[in-house]
Amino acid sequence: MNCCLIESRKVCVMDVHEDPNMPADAVEIRLVSPRPPRVGKGKRLWKKMKYQLVEYHSLPGFLRDNEYILGHYRSEWPMKQILLSIFSIHNETLNVWTHLIGFFIFLSLTIYTAMKVPKVVDLEALQQISDVLKKADLHKLQSEILTCLPSLPNMPDLQKLREELKTTIPSMDLISSLSSWHVMEHLYNCLPELLSARNHIDAQVLQGMKEPITRWPFFAFLGGAMFCLLASSTCHLLSCHSERVSYIMLRLDYAGIAALIATSFYPPVYYSFMCDPFFCNLYLASITFLGIATILFSLLPMFQRPEFRKIRASLFFGMGMSGVAPIIHKLILFWQQPEALHTTLYEILMGVLYGVGALIYAARIPERWMPGKFDIAGHSHQLFHVLVVAGAFTHYQAGLVYLKWRDQYGC
Ligand SMILES: [Zn+2]
Repeated sequence: MNCCLIESRKVCVMDVHEDPNMPADAVEIRLVSPRPPRVGKGKRLWKKMKYQLVEYHSLPGFLRDNEYILGHYRSEWPMKQILLSIFSIHNETLNVWTHLIGFFIFLSLTIYTAMKVPKVVDLEALQQISDVLKKADLHKLQSEILTCLPSLPNMPDLQKLREELKTTIPSMDLISSLSSWHVMEHLYNCLPELLSARNHIDAQVLQGMKEPITRWPFFAFLGGAMFCLLASSTCHLLSCHSERVSYIMLRLDYAGIAALIATSFYPPVYYSFMCDPFFCNLYLASITFLGIATILFSLLPMFQRPEFRKIRASLFFGMGMSGVAPIIHKLILFWQQPEALHTTLYEILMGVLYGVGALIYAARIPERWMPGKFDIAGHSHQLFHVLVVAGAFTHYQAGLVYLKWRDQYGC
């Protein structure tokens, strides 16, 4: 119980449900002065008193989750104070920020992937063609390219490219100016006949410069990861407002987890089975159905009840484990392909990170060993959050390997 003098009156702040042994005078004082003073220093002091952090035993039932975190709880604060609390220290601060920083990491990765990855994955091929051109008779090659171009009358950049070719080929600036993939594809279709007669390797290099394969499965995963991280961060920030808000936020959190698990399947399944539409569609449809079913099930009120905790965990675990089937299938089909092994190693690492995270979360380690010592920093949920971001980042790395593999070799 906290008391102070405000405008010459003693005010004690403590809800009746907090402590059944509360002295009677405290109740009386609260009834005498139930509202905050409206002006000046008294009002500021009232706010400071009212929105201070409370201990576990003072929490209403819907906020009681981890009895090993003893203090630093926000309880039923107004929305404005809750939003501002993102910049103050309490036991959810690091839960909010670990996933908010994770969200910004994945936002940056999405922008980076959209802008850079097609060029990055083909950097090797560009280097190779540069070597080919260095070895070739440049003036002869220039005339060959220029005779090749008139067969492409509808190419939008044709005139610009022709002008560039006339001036830049001798200085080898051509490579950096060829930023457009459709230009490269036209050149690829046009040139091999001329080049292959002279040098078979030249044509092979040009074949490697095909347009990159579709990115939508990779962006679906990045979108799922960003949604999950932002939903989780929002849930941790706002849930303490009221039972109603907590109910909505937890559903959003579950939906985010289901979305992350489901969309994590898209890159491995699509890029592993893109040449076998039956299995590609079968695996994608199965995980999408499972993801939507989990999200819908998690919206049911009974899903929240403590006795459903195990069913909840089993559903998410089952979704994750269903990824084993396409991974084993991929290894059977491509066991000689280094990229298949490389991506599987990333997928195993991701499984380990998520698995260890889930164990720490369920066992409430380390706070169960020293209750109250990890309230602000180091408790299980924060470790779980960091491991989730690390697992998703590992999956991003695996996705880059898939892209490079399929960009280079196609089906
Ligand atoms: Zn969380």
